[in-house]
Amino acid sequence: MKKMRVAIAGLTACSGCQLALLNCEDELPELFEKFAFHFFPMACSPALLEGEYDAALVEGCLSMPHEKELLLELRKRSVHLIALGTCAVWGGVAALRNGEDREWLRQQVYGHNPVASETFEPLPLHRVVKVDAAVTGCPPEKEELLRLLAGLTRGALPVGIDYPVCTECRMRENLCLLTERDMFCLGLLTLGGCGARCPSLGVPCEGCRGPVPEANLAEALEIYSEKGFGRITVLDRLRRFCPEWKL
Ligand code: SF4
Ligand code: SF4
Repeated sequence: MKKMRVAIAGLTACSGCQLALLNCEDELPELFEKFAFHFFPMACSPALLEGEYDAALVEGCLSMPHEKELLLELRKRSVHLIALGTCAVWGGVAALRNGEDREWLRQQVYGHNPVASETFEPLPLHRVVKVDAAVTGCPPEKEELLRLLAGLTRGALPVGIDYPVCTECRMRENLCLLTERDMFCLGLLTLGGCGARCPSLGVPCEGCRGPVPEANLAEALEIYSEKGFGRITVLDRLRRFCPEWKL
């Protein structure tokens, strides 16, 4: 069977999403039978773009000109381009301060170091290229990555999840941290798929998977308000992972 040609690239991010893939240690031998990772700078060298790709998986947001060039090149060469992880899908923490004076921010962090002079306001991938599918998460769940790759071997793209973390949390019969413990949990408005990882450990959801589509915002805001968390507080918290989030 012909192996699928795959490119895996990292832009502005922590490399955690690529690492999540490399951490699939038990599955890697089988993956290498089905996929040829022709461009995967984090794991293989030399890292040269060559020919066409069946799929490009891209982690991170865009904040530098060379990243934009790489992304455009990957788009041109790839049948499918997949945004991998919260930064690629939503902008993530790098885009947290979008909207504030960029020059001032640059000075605060880098002073007069010219290295940072060419950075621009961080953007999720869909703002620059067509994205065929997205696997969100900080990082994505291992099972999601494996499902994505298994689907690609059949020419299928992942179907987006459309339910909130709360759904999974209730299925696990967890005590609700928001309603029972008055903790600021964002599960109501956050895309599921993580199996309610944090609330299941007694830690409120921080919204790392981004917004759930068609959330009942009015009701959610009313519940938060009853617990003492106002609209601005909710929005500020949600925007840590998805700076474009609007309420
Ligand atoms: S603990 Fe959080 S995720 Fe779980 S049901 Fe309550 S609000 Fe939803
Ligand atoms: S519970 Fe919330 S913060 Fe935790 S992994 Fe899931 S989406 Fe992310």
